[in-house]
Amino acid sequence: MLTRRLAVAGALALGLSLPLALPAAAQDAAPKIPVVASFSILGDLVKEVGGDRVAVTTLVGPNGDAHVFQPAPADAKKVAAAQIVFVNGLGFEGWIDRLVKASGTKAEIVVATKGITPREMADEDEDDHAAPGHKDHDHAKKGEHDHDHGGIDPHAWQSVANAEIYVANIRDALVAADPAGKAAYEANASAYTAKLEALDAEVKAAMAAIPESRRRIITSHDAFGYFGAAYGIEFIAPQGVSTESEASAKDVARIIRQIKAENIPAVFMENISDPRLVKRIAKETQAKIGGELFSDALSDDKGPASTYIDMMKNNITQLSSALSS
Ligand code: ZN
Repeated sequence: MLTRRLAVAGALALGLSLPLALPAAAQDAAPKIPVVASFSILGDLVKEVGGDRVAVTTLVGPNGDAHVFQPAPADAKKVAAAQIVFVNGLGFEGWIDRLVKASGTKAEIVVATKGITPREMADEDEDDHAAPGHKDHDHAKKGEHDHDHGGIDPHAWQSVANAEIYVANIRDALVAADPAGKAAYEANASAYTAKLEALDAEVKAAMAAIPESRRRIITSHDAFGYFGAAYGIEFIAPQGVSTESEASAKDVARIIRQIKAENIPAVFMENISDPRLVKRIAKETQAKIGGELFSDALSDDKGPASTYIDMMKNNITQLSSALSS
């Protein structure tokens, strides 16, 4: 036991001076910083920055829907054991405050979207900008407009430029919690940011290649507003920015009329949403089903979107093949 402890201490001491030169075996022996990420996409970004020094646990797993997630006692245990809890914020995890409180954790809660300009939806009340995580539902003013999907759009990760801000926030939080890993976190973050910059250019080029008149599609919930704003595609969704409330018959009828009137070429299913609504819309219009987009969660390891980068590549492949011809 004593020798084992000494070996761990030795590895830590080495880590202080030479984090990049450590042999893999020595790094494996060092205790990892336990951190929690609220959902799978954020978990992947944290793993990229944390590398070998961090053990990442995810609450909402692959293909899971964070909007309607109901934490179990096992989730409270994960949060209790964490040194940092990374959340998206912007109202995405309406359940997080209660979970953190119930867990009794001393973990730092880090909002990964800090510094991002939030996308505000129509019918928005101006009251809950300053407090990500603070959720104040049902303030949409019904009846004034065709729809009542007011609020802040939480799906900021769908713009790669925003993902770079997530990465910087993750890096800063890990450096603060584990100063010995500063050089490693900075190196990981900058290598990964370079990959994100290449990805951003790839997404821009792919979307620019689609004829402008065909850059309009339907998805089930409004998860691609940041993507649309960054890359010049219009996404129209019968459901609002959350999956908590179902699309109203009025919203669905409006979208069916819009598809017919404007020749919108394709509708897409989402990995986290029931495909029936989108299939029904396709059936009642001439729009084709373009495939499945990953909106709020990664796929499992065997799927086409098990990392953030693969998710974005999968989505642009689906969009390009449905819209280009
Ligand atoms: Zn969503």
